[in-house]
Amino acid sequence: MKIYKFGGASVKNAERIRHLADILANESEDLIVVVSAMGKTTNQLEEFTQMLYPDATYEDKEYDCLYDQVVSTGELQSTRIVSAYLNHAGIANHWMDITQLLQTDDTFRNAQVDIAASQQHLQTYIQQHPAHVYVTQGFIGGTKDGLRTTLGREGSDYTAALLAYMLDAESVTLWKDVQGVYSADPRKVKDAQLIHEMSYAEAAALVEKGAQIVHHKTFEPLAEKHIPLYVRPFLHPEEKGTVIH
Ligand code: ADP
Ligand code: ASP
Ligand code: MG
Repeated sequence: MKIYKFGGASVKNAERIRHLADILANESEDLIVVVSAMGKTTNQLEEFTQMLYPDATYEDKEYDCLYDQVVSTGELQSTRIVSAYLNHAGIANHWMDITQLLQTDDTFRNAQVDIAASQQHLQTYIQQHPAHVYVTQGFIGGTKDGLRTTLGREGSDYTAALLAYMLDAESVTLWKDVQGVYSADPRKVKDAQLIHEMSYAEAAALVEKGAQIVHHKTFEPLAEKHIPLYVRPFLHPEEKGTVIH
């Protein structure tokens, strides 16, 4: 089992979703495909929530709960679209509602995952619904009481790592809109160098210094189980990108 994660840029329009299908068509192993909300949908849903609740302050738990119920729809919607298109394109897949499986506490907007409970839910679910390809949501989870939660902005990378950890996956691949991990943000620093291979500690240190390329919580679960993390260029799948191991 491998985990492939596609960020918002990789599903931002119909052309990109067709390209995503081409990447999957070349993969023969069992996959869990983790998908973010399309493009900048999460930002728009954030603004929408603020309009619904204009008096909100960030300390307000009621607001944070409402935020998670609204903002989580971005991933539920994108995965429905991707899953339906893949089935249409001949890539049979099972759409999985991660909010029923990835169990979190009720710290809305920064929910903490109960790994033991989630692992049990996931393993049971996968046994009961065998498939070669699962399509599911990054960034979101759910409480025991059935409320949706979010794991913090950009949290889809972390979801991919958690799934790999819980299912003992052989690798995680984050398909992004860059060639891989660079010494600095290649959009800002002209002479940034592509790094082909890094340790978990080196990658974590780069992120710690401010490189917003991979969510900071991604490395720990992978390092613990020695699961390699690939950061690869969505638009150039023939290229290797970066391996973090
Ligand atoms: P995703 O679509 O998976 O959410 P992100 O947008 O979160 O992807 O991350 C990719 C972006 O990270 C790139 O567009 C790039 O501008 C930025 N970035 C910041 N630092 C780096 C770095 N050191 N190496 C590569 N990309 C970086
Ligand atoms: N869609 C969410 C966000 O924009 C999660 C993610 O993309 O990782 O923050
Ligand atoms: Mg991201």
